[in-house]
Amino acid sequence: MNTVAQLINGQFVTSTSSQFIMVQDPATNEDISQIPVSTTHDMEEAIQSAQKAFTSWKKVPVSERARVMLRYQHLLKQHHDEIAIILSKETGKTFEDAKGDVWRGIEVVEQAANVASLMMGETVENVARNIDSYSMVQPLGVCLGITPFNFPAMIPLWMFPMAIACGNTFVLKPSEQDPNTPMKLAELFMQAGAPDGVLNIVHGGKEQVNFLLSHDAIKAVSFVGSVLVGQHIYKTATQNMKRAQCFAGAKNHLVVMPDANKKQVINNLVGASVGAAGQRCMAISVAVFVGNSKEWIDQLAEKIGEVKPGLWDDPKAGFGPLISAQAKARVLALIESGKQAGATCLVDGSQFSLAQYEQGNWIGPTVFTNVSTDMEIYQQEIFGPVLCCIQVDTLAQAIKLINENPFGNGTSIFTASGAAARTFQSEVQVGQIGINIPIPVALPFFSFTGWKNSFYGDLHAYGKQGARFYTETKTITARWFDDESAVVPNMSINLR
Ligand code: NAD
Repeated sequence: MNTVAQLINGQFVTSTSSQFIMVQDPATNEDISQIPVSTTHDMEEAIQSAQKAFTSWKKVPVSERARVMLRYQHLLKQHHDEIAIILSKETGKTFEDAKGDVWRGIEVVEQAANVASLMMGETVENVARNIDSYSMVQPLGVCLGITPFNFPAMIPLWMFPMAIACGNTFVLKPSEQDPNTPMKLAELFMQAGAPDGVLNIVHGGKEQVNFLLSHDAIKAVSFVGSVLVGQHIYKTATQNMKRAQCFAGAKNHLVVMPDANKKQVINNLVGASVGAAGQRCMAISVAVFVGNSKEWIDQLAEKIGEVKPGLWDDPKAGFGPLISAQAKARVLALIESGKQAGATCLVDGSQFSLAQYEQGNWIGPTVFTNVSTDMEIYQQEIFGPVLCCIQVDTLAQAIKLINENPFGNGTSIFTASGAAARTFQSEVQVGQIGINIPIPVALPFFSFTGWKNSFYGDLHAYGKQGARFYTETKTITARWFDDESAVVPNMSINLR
């Protein structure tokens, strides 16, 4: 069993901490690693090294910073499968899913290599006689990232490459449940030529996060995780006068119109709902059947019921175990609450267990129908392989249902009608919309734009908004005297 290192000032160092958190293989619940709970001394050192590195890194020409990202994306591609294996082993994700996790992160690094165009200011000549105004975009200082377990490659890569490409330095506190993946990402980042102290990693949970959030040197906080923690982090960071972007939980609906292609609807819904064991912030957890499309629910349930959970390296496995015994217990309790509340359980995965791996956190695919909005299975983010089906009569009712839901990460419509799709995209109060696409995650030249309780802040992750989040704009108004205008009697007249 390995003890996970910290990254401080360019060195992978052990902590003097006497407290450790065990990292378990979700398929067996056996310990595979331990992480130190970073001490205050460790965290001070990490922040100081980031502060020191900032003084020189911010002066490194933007094209040189971009070149570090180009080398980094090359190394990530070279080590793509190796990272995916580390990721699969500590999350239980299938190899295919793990590769997707790594790939979506690499795409953000490619975008970070394009940083110069994102850091361009604006210029207006002659804002007044002989006076020009222009703006420049500058980094903030030390930025902090706090990441969840469910995308241990992609989400750290949403944060530190863009922040660092913009000229900042970074302290990352990854999820305590799968820290080996971000450590591998960090190892490759150092190999790509990142100077010492530009990226630092410390470990732990609530106490460590609270210490970092209250530190004066931290200028901006990026968080991805659950709703209550996101609210706490947004409030604490902003109370401590830091800018913050906090991506939180979700409840994503897919609307099925009766004119949609049945086969496409069913095929897409299977992967979007139970893929990755439903542990995706963009997973479809509610299917809203409009009108006669409700007749497809039984066929959909049958198809979802055929999906078999399995080990990460089993090519036939549809998805893996849940991340922890605690997560499994939570999802089982929610399945039970759905039954008690009167929803019809068409496929029940609560008894599923994988032969010879009975200690793992297995739950089979589960489908409920006749779900109503007052049920806990509708109101809570389940974060398990569970799909809830709801029936409505019209598109307007489907839109109303989605708009009344407190979350707004993603939603989708399957239809053959351009008019229905257009009404949907215009009226639905959700940040990312799919039209005949089940999981509409924006590519890195756009931004990841969750709304409502799925996001606290204003500037979203990656793309132009990511660059704006990690930078400050400085506006300069300049006048240069030539010989003839050297004496200006009254400046206020000139400026009027
Ligand atoms: P989590 O909130 O439990 O943990 C996220 C991070 O916060 C971890 O690093 C953890 O150590 C830290 N943390 C936990 N409790 C804390 C506390 N009380 N105070 C301070 N820090 C604390 O989330 P998770 O279970 O790791 O991830 C799953 C959640 O993340 C789901 O709700 C999912 O929807 C959400 N998520 C959202 C997005 C998005 O873009 N909106 C993307 C991925 C995941």
